[in-house]
Amino acid sequence: MYKNHLLPYTTSMTDTNSPSKDKGSFSFISLGCARTLVDSEHMVNDLKSAGMSMVPEGSNETVTILNTCSFIQAAIDETETNIKDLTQRKKDGHIKHLAVVGCYPSRFKKGELNLKYPEVDLWLTTQEQSQLKPRLTELLFQKKFMPSTPVKYTKLTPSHYSYIKISEGCNNWCAFCTIPKIRGEHTSIPLETIIKEAKDQISYGAKELLLVAEDTTAWGEDIYGKPSFHLLLDELAKLPIKWIRPMYIFPSRVDSDLLNVIKKHDNITNYIDMPIQHASDHLLTSMNRRHDKAYLEQLFKDFQAEIPELQWRTSLIAGFPGETEEDVDELIQFLHDYPFAQVGCFGYSYEKETRSARMEGQVDAATIQSRIERIMTAQLKLVEERNQDKVGQTLEIIYEGNQTARSQFESPEVDGSILIENHENLIPGQFYQATITSAKGYDLKATVNV
Ligand code: SF4
Repeated sequence: MYKNHLLPYTTSMTDTNSPSKDKGSFSFISLGCARTLVDSEHMVNDLKSAGMSMVPEGSNETVTILNTCSFIQAAIDETETNIKDLTQRKKDGHIKHLAVVGCYPSRFKKGELNLKYPEVDLWLTTQEQSQLKPRLTELLFQKKFMPSTPVKYTKLTPSHYSYIKISEGCNNWCAFCTIPKIRGEHTSIPLETIIKEAKDQISYGAKELLLVAEDTTAWGEDIYGKPSFHLLLDELAKLPIKWIRPMYIFPSRVDSDLLNVIKKHDNITNYIDMPIQHASDHLLTSMNRRHDKAYLEQLFKDFQAEIPELQWRTSLIAGFPGETEEDVDELIQFLHDYPFAQVGCFGYSYEKETRSARMEGQVDAATIQSRIERIMTAQLKLVEERNQDKVGQTLEIIYEGNQTARSQFESPEVDGSILIENHENLIPGQFYQATITSAKGYDLKATVNV
């Protein structure tokens, strides 16, 4: 999770600093994941098309907008801290209007939220986000309609990469997860819309497209009667784009079609983000993951045999109800046996609306923390060993600026990066060949070949 006080990467200084007098101005804070950031970018551009200017928070803006996250208690806490801070500033006269959108108002009843935070002028759920412009038009200007005019597109990520959301919602109902309740049923974004979005992002400068959804592999199920993510990848790979990065793969939907399309196209990264959550059979069953450890083992063996250079990122949950120290041992052994380049480990979060909240064997917070540390210490040791093998290898990298770069094996924001020793004349967003010179812990150093 991260907090972004959003400022555009690509608008001119005039856009940023000179609020339009008649159409007003807005500031935007985005909490949560890349999927929320995609929503934020759409809302920002929708408001700009109405003539509103985007300004830094605290610039005497007409309205402050907070896009929220609420999938676990830690995210709710962060959202509520922000709402309390903003409502206090409104009471003190520093904020004129306040809108709170996204996952937080989707998880709770608006009546209760109105009582708790009467200073908030507008609540919109994730399903209502497209209503932000008309609702603000009504609230701020007492008008029913604000015409759209073409404006220069505002990106909220650096111009060389873009997140593309390919579907909304999720039908998987993992036992620990609140997202199906918050974001609703899985609905695919049509192929033509995604291709148009991808082409637009390429025209704004994107060289890397990161495909995101709650479960990218479910894409197409509601349109074609069966999951068809491979068809989407096949179409996107025909575009003039250097890297297409599939994120949020659901293991039980991985099949030979997916493997073949990755193998077929050089511009689909040899990097897959696939959260496995655990490797213990009884936990995978209670999590409702719809596969077992043997399935995962076969999957990794198949990919390893066909695409030996492919690397995996995964996410794990420590402390799911019923987990024992032996289960943690089994998970660590699994990390040892299969080549995970990047691992995120999260402590199980008790969420009262979920099935796992009613399960026996809830694990206490201190034990969860010690298991996270045990898993991540083991993973660090493995990464240290595996990174030593990279020393001397030459990789294609994209220079990010600030002395750092990424290869196809690192995703922006969630993975580490490569420190470039001879960075002086490099241009952010450009590709270079670089040789890894040293590895320590998670950190790699490289020299660009000249
Ligand atoms: S696939 Fe992801 S979003 Fe869907 S229920 Fe499982 S954890 Fe939640």
